[in-house]
Amino acid sequence: MSEGNNIKSEVLRAATVSGAGPVKRIAIFGSTGSIGTQALDVIAANPDKFSAEVLTAHSNEDLLIRQALSFRPNMVVIGDEKKYAKIKDALASTEVKVFAGEKALEEVAALDCYDLMLAAIVGYAGLKPTLKAISQGKTIALANKETLVVAGDIVMRKAVENRVPIIPVDSEHSAIFQCLVGETRNKIEKVILTASGGPFLGRKPNYLVNVKREHALQHPNWSMGAKITIDSATLMNKGLEMIEAKWLFNMRPDQIQVVIHPQSIIHSMVQFEDGSIKAQMGLPDMKLPIQYAMAFPKRIPNQFPRYDFKKVSTLSFEEPDLRTFRNLALAIEALNKGGNLPSVLNAANEIAVYAFLRNRIGFLDMTDVIEKTMARIPFINNPTLEEYFDSDGEARNFAADLINL
Ligand code: NAD
Ligand code: MG
Repeated sequence: MSEGNNIKSEVLRAATVSGAGPVKRIAIFGSTGSIGTQALDVIAANPDKFSAEVLTAHSNEDLLIRQALSFRPNMVVIGDEKKYAKIKDALASTEVKVFAGEKALEEVAALDCYDLMLAAIVGYAGLKPTLKAISQGKTIALANKETLVVAGDIVMRKAVENRVPIIPVDSEHSAIFQCLVGETRNKIEKVILTASGGPFLGRKPNYLVNVKREHALQHPNWSMGAKITIDSATLMNKGLEMIEAKWLFNMRPDQIQVVIHPQSIIHSMVQFEDGSIKAQMGLPDMKLPIQYAMAFPKRIPNQFPRYDFKKVSTLSFEEPDLRTFRNLALAIEALNKGGNLPSVLNAANEIAVYAFLRNRIGFLDMTDVIEKTMARIPFINNPTLEEYFDSDGEARNFAADLINL
């Protein structure tokens, strides 16, 4: 049995026995985002199964206040400390506790008042609270893929040490996870991540050079937060997901394949050592993987629209165009070399996407920023957590200097 299967069986076993009572108490880190709001819809539809105990947001205080008034969590955290007074005021007549600041995210992650953390903050900012929750033995439903891209070895090791199940929310990884139920003893030959190809599928660099943020924010199949929508347009998202898959399922880089599947009906596949391929399918709707991660190991009924084989007749597949979508090639390089390179790639990408979303650089410039940053920051083969933090900071500074941010 491979080490990956050991981790997997540990995760499946621990998740089966986790949960304090019939109602799972959920902490949504990033409750005002695309994933966070959909998770609250799932909770609202299943009040007998879930309660929202902790809600956190970075700057959208109005939505956080509305969510708090409607779900009456134990506590809320606002990242931006300037917004604390307004929230405190708005919730004065309730029992909801209010905290503010980056440190508070970690402190709240350590509390006993919840059973499962839905890690739905975007970017590197999600790493520290998630690590804190793992050290406290909390089950993690992981949407924040950057956590595993930056420090996947340390995150997974700590999860095993603390017997913490990490249940993927990312649709591809949820698909793979679902395909693996019942397969604990069987070796995986490879995993096949499907990608929609984004809004610029089939386009060439002479088109991409003129693409603006409004174009890039139009995803054909999924409605998501701004950062991941841009990552989907550049195919960086799939690169981050390859690295995420490496850590979640303990795969070698050559066991992770990407295939473009524009209809987004097959969410990903697992090929076992007998050549048999299992796929998980359905309409593209993040509520399903969110609900699955929160309810695991149970499936719960819902009213989400169903895929109808009579309506869509063609499912198609093609190779990704790595010469045009070079971000994916850079991510594959980081996946292969390992060490601190994925954390450098991630940091440079966060800066590049931030700049693109503010019309400071063009679509193809994002790739240049990432490539130059990867070439500049010294390689560390087996980084400590501190070294991952340092690499992230150095890469951010270098990338920001490159574009005069
Ligand atoms: P989003 O931008 O819609 O929401 C992000 C949330 O994080 C918000 O609640 C925001 O307040 C909070 N946040 C942002 N910056 C923060 C900071 N510095 N400190 C603390 N909180 C901060 O993002 P999203 O689309 O919901 O994505 C969340 C995560 O889930 C990402 O890592 C993304 O890759 C992953 N994911 C999203 C989808 C999707 O369909 N949206 C699918 C798969 C994976
Ligand atoms: Mg995904």
